Amino acid sequence: MTDGAGDVGKVRGWVRAARRIVVLSGAGMSAESGVPTFRDAQTGLWAKFRPEDLATEDAFRADPKMVWDWYAMRRAMVAKVEPNAGHRAIAAFQQRHPGRLTVATQNVDGLHQHAGSPGVLALHGNIAEDTWLEAPRACCTDANLLPGTPPRCAVCGNLRRPAVVWFGETLPPEVLQAAQDAALASQLMLVVGTSGVVYPAAGLARATPGRVVVINPQASDLDAVADAVLRGGAAVLLPQLLEEHP
Ligand code: NAD
Repeated sequence: MTDGAGDVGKVRGWVRAARRIVVLSGAGMSAESGVPTFRDAQTGLWAKFRPEDLATEDAFRADPKMVWDWYAMRRAMVAKVEPNAGHRAIAAFQQRHPGRLTVATQNVDGLHQHAGSPGVLALHGNIAEDTWLEAPRACCTDANLLPGTPPRCAVCGNLRRPAVVWFGETLPPEVLQAAQDAALASQLMLVVGTSGVVYPAAGLARATPGRVVVINPQASDLDAVADAVLRGGAAVLLPQLLEEHP
């Protein structure tokens, strides 16, 4: 493992040499866009709750309005932010090199997609979308949707919920499979802005046969498996690594 400014040049060489690259991103990827990481997210009204206690199916069933309101606050925040230079550097690289770089993200903010990254593997869903809490019945249609916090089916009472993967839930199998396939086929994985404690996403970095580069201003659980650790922010380092003439 290495750590320091000189390593940027070395990792740029690895980027040039790799036929297939995966970017595995977490909340720190969007920090410089102004989206708080989970560790920093608890302000104001929500300071007394832990995200791990709100982002669960049990919490939603116990108090659907409270969890819906928390997501409404996060949705409103995400709707106001823009992709940063890191998101844009990744998307520009993908456009210059079609099919060479896959983004697998734990983020639900949609900023990679907004920056123009194609085929983003959104491991934990998208906060801008809803889905049904229970498997939808024939009556669960838009026409029967009753507004509310949360909206519900006017006929059977089925609730709408955010289309994100909550703690304790399974990732969408086809998305996880595609991310695993990409990880296994890659020669280089850039692990950006993740503490590396949420599985199975973190397992992708442990499974890849290629080199692993961690990009994070702080220590993370994946530093131990990294071939290089770059201490810095995503919006600064990714353009240096991915742009042709930074
Ligand atoms: P995390 O909050 O556990 O860790 C964030 C990591 O980002 C930390 O290691 C931190 O040091 C690092 N970081 C902070 N600023 C950075 C920067 N400028 N550049 C690079 N790294 C930076 O996040 P996680 O590992 O993604 O896991 C938490 C879970 O919370 C995930 O499942 C994720 O889906 C969810 N989450 C998503 C968002 C979002 O969509 N933006 C925000 C908060 C949490």
